Amino acid sequence: MAQKDCIFCKIAGGEIDSEIVYQDDRVVAFQDANPQAPVHILIIPRKHIPSLKDFSEEDFDLLADIHRVAVKLADKEGLTEEGFRLVNNCGSQGGQTVDHVHYHLLGGRQLTWPPG
Ligand code: 5GP
Ligand code: ZN
Repeated sequence: MAQKDCIFCKIAGGEIDSEIVYQDDRVVAFQDANPQAPVHILIIPRKHIPSLKDFSEEDFDLLADIHRVAVKLADKEGLTEEGFRLVNNCGSQGGQTVDHVHYHLLGGRQLTWPPG
């Protein structure tokens, strides 16, 4: 299931160090190495799926798992009252730089819209 040379598969498998804040059998969440906000956590499925556009029908349940983890982590980080952002960058024009699907949980400061 893990893809050789995928940095996020290696993080999920413990081969590369990261600050993991949550994990279960389907989802792993860890601190972004280059945080863009006081809270910046990446949430990924353990399954190697390159991008949201590559999801097959059976994969979509993972999005519910990821959202559930995001809401719980946001609460744990104290973001529930002020709010937060959950973002997926898909493909090159979407700004995706790591080809293992991931969601950014961002919060702790006023975020602007539209994004750049
Ligand atoms: P993307 O641009 O693909 O949406 O987001 C990739 C994110 O992964 C970026 O926010 C970047 O800082 C983060 N990132 C890239 N490499 C690593 C790494 O090795 N460890 C961690 N913790 N985050 C990483
Ligand atoms: Zn991967």
